Amino acid sequence: MISRTVIRRERQVQRRRPWRLAGIFAVTAVSFTTKRNFLATITTGLSSSSSSPSSRHDAQFAPNNSNKIAVVGGGASGIFAAIAAAENNAGVATEVVVIEATSSTLSKVKISGGGRCNVLHDTSKSVPTILAGYPRGQRELNGLYHKRFTPTMARDWFEQRGVILKVEEDGRMFPVTDSSQTIIDTLMKAAENVGVEIRYRNKVVSIDKKNNDDSDDEPVADGSNNLFTVNYKDGTQEDFCSIILATGSAPAGHLLAKSLGHDPLVQPVPSLFTLNCKHAVSSSDDENENGLLHGLSGVSKQQLVQEGPLLITHHGISGPATLRLSAFAAREFRDINYRGHVTINWDAGSLPNSNPDQVLEELWKVTQTNPKRGVASVCPLPNNSIPRRLWQALVFSSGFTSDSKWGSVSKKSVRLLAQNIVECRLEITSKGTFKEEFVTAGGVDLKEINMKTMESKICPGLFLCGEVINVDGVTGGYNFMNCWSTGFVAGESSSSYQTSLLVKENEVQQQS
Ligand SMILES: Cc1cc2nc3c(=O)[nH]c(=O)nc-3n(C[C@H](O)[C@H](O)[C@H](O)COP(=O)(O)OP(=O)(O)OC[C@H]3O[C@@H](n4cnc5c(N)ncnc54)[C@H](O)[C@@H]3O)c2cc1C
Repeated sequence: MISRTVIRRERQVQRRRPWRLAGIFAVTAVSFTTKRNFLATITTGLSSSSSSPSSRHDAQFAPNNSNKIAVVGGGASGIFAAIAAAENNAGVATEVVVIEATSSTLSKVKISGGGRCNVLHDTSKSVPTILAGYPRGQRELNGLYHKRFTPTMARDWFEQRGVILKVEEDGRMFPVTDSSQTIIDTLMKAAENVGVEIRYRNKVVSIDKKNNDDSDDEPVADGSNNLFTVNYKDGTQEDFCSIILATGSAPAGHLLAKSLGHDPLVQPVPSLFTLNCKHAVSSSDDENENGLLHGLSGVSKQQLVQEGPLLITHHGISGPATLRLSAFAAREFRDINYRGHVTINWDAGSLPNSNPDQVLEELWKVTQTNPKRGVASVCPLPNNSIPRRLWQALVFSSGFTSDSKWGSVSKKSVRLLAQNIVECRLEITSKGTFKEEFVTAGGVDLKEINMKTMESKICPGLFLCGEVINVDGVTGGYNFMNCWSTGFVAGESSSSYQTSLLVKENEVQQQS
């Protein structure tokens, strides 16, 4: 496979000379290659022609500069887009070239999900339920996830290629091997099978578009007025008929998008992070149950209240509720430079909408029923939902001592305890890192993309997918699902676009 790819490439350089050879080609070597959590609630085909060739190497159209698709970025979305483009173009002389700046593809897939690759979110859930996991892109992904490349199609794609998937209790899907290498091997083999060429250590520094709109030219036979010229870091250039931009959150990719007209971008900001707190309730990394972490104090947006498991760490808070809050409030946190307050209801598991008065009432009953019991001994609330060490931290921070008995407490001190249980205010001092997954919110504005084809509305022939666009999901497999779906559609659409150019050129050739 490796040698075949190289040979095809050399032939193509020779064929191209009579028309236009843009720069020196940058030919490089071608190769394929818990802790226990506790529950809390915090606030792209035109069919090619009449005679169908038997393989994509039997070109029916004159070879020219417009038969190559560049996929800039060899991450999850780029590789998936390249496979879809090459598969969709079977029978047409197309080269699909992945251009990767670094020495390896799929490097984030490798480290994803703690090395296990949380490849999807539970595909048995309804599409609207899955879409709810996207703070940005929820509405715009609707058509793609319902029709074009659904979560079920993504699961089938992997299963048809031999990947056996399992669903964990929290909805995360992993390969049964618990190894991201399974996903990498499957993607790279699929790319190899459809003849995708991959170039490593080839950074794209700029892309020039020949703008048809500014020219009176009719399409010319060599397709040279439908070209993108890709400029590489080593000073060489290469022409492509279309570009799939799949550069993830890389600033260099954002610059490319801007230079092609997507300016301004939706400001990129981090999403999925932990919160460092000045006064963590507990100095331990113990986990607790049934709390409620409200959102930023004083802001009343619905999304800024999240409910679910919460983890107390050495530096502050983490766990699903915190991560969801960081995602849905990514921009608000950025606006306050990650300094502010969060309010937690530690008892949300047993009393979801509890307020301090209700909790006070429950606690006050104990002064009558168990006056001799130590306040610090055990949480007396129904379902006893607060773990012992957290309970003690709340009790002591409310002014009780280890000797305090329920029978001798004042209502004022119990009211303070009730408030600390339901409205525990923590000072956020900075953003932490959730090492298992993080993502960038922002990027290319979805309003500037045709979400049926993933083609730019500003720059025809440019397709976008993955994290470079303003889509991000909460932790749990949502971000890769975005890569599979937008990548597939960008790939398929780019090859359809390329086929339509070839058909047009063929017609021009026949007329001349
Ligand atoms: C530690 C970690 C764990 C994660 N785990 C999960 C998980 O388990 N499940 C999940 O759903 N999501 C997970 N994510 C998020 C997920 O990995 C990303 O959303 C996804 O990888 C984005 O894919 P992408 O193809 O858009 O971009 P990327 O994977 O970032 O790929 C972009 C590629 O483009 C290349 N590139 C950039 N600029 C240029 C240029 N100018 N020229 C050439 N090449 C260029 C880069 O080198 C890179 O290889 C995780 C993220 C991290 C950081």
